[in-house]
Amino acid sequence: MDQPIPYLDLAAQMRPLRKEIDAVIAKTLDNCSFCLGPDVTQFEKDFAAYCGAKHSLGFNSGTSALHVALLLLNVEPGDEVITTPYTFVATSWAISYIGAKPVYVDIEDNTFNIDPKLVEKAITPRTKAILPVHLYGQPCDLDPLLEICRKHKLPLVEDAAQAHGAKYKGRDIGTFGEISCYSFYPAKNLGACGEGGSLVTNNDAYAARARSLREHGSTQRYYHDEVGYNYRMEGIQGAVLGVKLKHLNKWNEGRRRVAHRYHELLADTPLQLPLEAEYAESVYHLYVVRHPRRDELKKHLEADKIGSALHYPLPLHLQKCYASLGYKQGDFPVSEKAGQECLSLPTFPELTDDQIQRVANSIKRFFKK
Ligand SMILES: *Cc1c(COP(=O)(O)O)cnc(C)c1O
Repeated sequence: MDQPIPYLDLAAQMRPLRKEIDAVIAKTLDNCSFCLGPDVTQFEKDFAAYCGAKHSLGFNSGTSALHVALLLLNVEPGDEVITTPYTFVATSWAISYIGAKPVYVDIEDNTFNIDPKLVEKAITPRTKAILPVHLYGQPCDLDPLLEICRKHKLPLVEDAAQAHGAKYKGRDIGTFGEISCYSFYPAKNLGACGEGGSLVTNNDAYAARARSLREHGSTQRYYHDEVGYNYRMEGIQGAVLGVKLKHLNKWNEGRRRVAHRYHELLADTPLQLPLEAEYAESVYHLYVVRHPRRDELKKHLEADKIGSALHYPLPLHLQKCYASLGYKQGDFPVSEKAGQECLSLPTFPELTDDQIQRVANSIKRFFKK
């Protein structure tokens, strides 16, 4: 009997790194720098260099980094931020935490990213920022978005939580907008041993204020310039991320290998396969296929002991928590259809060719039935 193929196998990534990670955690236990501290500072330098940015600040999650990003841009209660309804909900939390309003714009049918052609129509005098997501590891089409931002004097924040190391027109994402936010949730392309996030910017003033906002609004202990937050990265997470960052490019290459192999093997099936746009080098956080019989296919894979997942079954404008925004079914048809048809296949760097073949064979059997 074949071994099950998990949707995600974090243990496979941990195994070869375990000794090194044990050692850096032990060092943190010795020096007791548990909140920020030298390991976080070192990781901030390394991650800024990785992104080609001037500043990277360690946060306790991607969500808190996004929240602070919008605070830095002076988004206020009642303001509007243009974003995508087809993403993990945390993109919109950042807007809601401020009491501002997420204004959704539908996605492109083939990339799942915000459709730049629809953005300008959504701008009002209350619009304060544009917050696109590089979904599933693929950069959104930044040039037309930046053009709109220039024309309307609006800042752009990149939600890069799923796209560490992805490239747009040959250049690393992360410094196209005023600010970019990354997540180090364990399942992300670069994951901590717990929660973590990063705020990346080239702007010195933003970096200085973000440093204060993440630490109770203070630069000098017990003196508070503004109402702040406890959003600090933990020392242990900085240490672990420092070890893992050295492997990120290799892992992203591994994800691309998996994606290209799926592409070859699934080319002659009725599935719609993910499109890598001509401007994008995706890091395949997820490999998401589409088909109207998605639910049946998922059950079929389960019966073959193959894991899969849904990203994202219900777009944000239809979530209960956002009922008060007043959106209804049919407002964003491309997102709604994607939610019904998408299926994420196992995609992690350690997936073997044999496992990929088995996933593909199982899918082919499904369509022959
Ligand atoms: C994971 C994720 C976040 C939130 O990051 P956390 O570290 O889990 O808080 C935000 N946006 C997107 C698109 C994500 O995938």
